[in-house]
Amino acid sequence: MVNKQVSDIPNGMEKIISLCKRRGFIYQGSEIYGGLAGMYDFGPYGVELLNKIKASWWKEHVYNRDNYVGLDSAIFKDPRVWEASGHTKGFADPLSECKRCNTRIRVDKELEEIGVVADEKMSEAKLNELFSANKSKIKCPQCGARDFTEVRAFNLLVKSNLGDFTSTGERPVYLPGEACQGIYLNYKNILNSTRVKVPFGVAQIGKAFRNEISPRNFLFRTREFEQADTQLFIRPHENKEAYERMKKERWDWYLSLGIRAENLKWKQHENLVFYASDAWDILYNFPTYGFDEVEGIHDRTDYDLTQHMKYSGVDLSYTDPQTKEKFIPWILETSMGLGRVFLAVLSDAYTEDLLGGEPRIVLKLAGHLAPVKVAVFPLLRNKPELVQKAEEVHRMLKGKIAGLVEFDDNGNIGKRYRRQDEIGTPYCVTIDFDSLEKGDVTVRDRDNGKQDRIKIDELAAFFKQKFS
Ligand SMILES: [Zn+2]
Repeated sequence: MVNKQVSDIPNGMEKIISLCKRRGFIYQGSEIYGGLAGMYDFGPYGVELLNKIKASWWKEHVYNRDNYVGLDSAIFKDPRVWEASGHTKGFADPLSECKRCNTRIRVDKELEEIGVVADEKMSEAKLNELFSANKSKIKCPQCGARDFTEVRAFNLLVKSNLGDFTSTGERPVYLPGEACQGIYLNYKNILNSTRVKVPFGVAQIGKAFRNEISPRNFLFRTREFEQADTQLFIRPHENKEAYERMKKERWDWYLSLGIRAENLKWKQHENLVFYASDAWDILYNFPTYGFDEVEGIHDRTDYDLTQHMKYSGVDLSYTDPQTKEKFIPWILETSMGLGRVFLAVLSDAYTEDLLGGEPRIVLKLAGHLAPVKVAVFPLLRNKPELVQKAEEVHRMLKGKIAGLVEFDDNGNIGKRYRRQDEIGTPYCVTIDFDSLEKGDVTVRDRDNGKQDRIKIDELAAFFKQKFS
């Protein structure tokens, strides 16, 4: 049992879920009230990891490129936005209900399970036809009956009563079904208030909400989630090369998170929405669940701006400052589910190995993603001179390392190492009796357990170099 990856472990996802709760990465939402389905809260280490994934993505687009800018648009938007985007009509899951127990099933997913090619973008009529032909092979997951209603589209938008003071709530304002719409709404503002010119991109991280009929697979299908999107506004028909470049850049970003290439793959969409010219997903090989989507890369032509121009009545065309040519920019989009990437990063880092003959669980997270950068321990908690020195070193490092530096004097040293290994802390610093005499400490490396003696005076520079 040396270096077992989670994909080699039966019920690997159960191990990840258990670690998430035990070590403060993810909690069930509203847990003390019995839990609210499809909701999760990021705990103290979870929020650190999530923020670091976001920071890496933001740096990649907004800081490292010349023609991308950032945005953070409001959750609530004019209801016409969702008409223009097609969500009020087309954003629906095809469902059927068990006639015996009223359990609803996702028809496209059930068909796929029995090997019939189906997808939620197919028309209701087409899905009904496929379902009728195959429903004798499908069992109700709840009661086992094989008696279902016709397929019906169930809209996924979540309604709110913001600003609706009628008692009937007849003018719903929707929560965003996808986060990217705010970018289209601000496209003109950005052009008018910054120095960008087509081609330019906008990056945004935002929350989205969907009335999923059956939230499932932990962070994979939730009712509230966070998306990181980019929209690249380009000249018409200049999509092919830029699209290929975008695909490569997105793939490479996952590798930069430390995710192994063999756990990633591409999938091209077979059924494109009518306006799209091309669409590919990056899939990750989740433990237990197998390969599934973490990000979509979409070639959307001029659909989005044309729709918003039509529904808002505002001219969203672009005039080239040199040639004076007027056109509606085409859009290349990248859209990533942050919860899914979080789960992919955790899964890829999860390792069971032997260290000094002892079995352990260790998260081999890339240094820039680790929730805790360095943990500082006194060798013994009942020796005030060790504790005091350790507190001194802890205070000194806190000011000098970007990220969490933890102090821990709980339990024996082996237990402290195990805890830090499980949350992926790259380095542990131990203050022992030699430290008091010689002014140096033990620095232990998470991945191989190797220990080095480093002078306290040189610690900050040592870590600065390690995390650069
Ligand atoms: Zn049933």
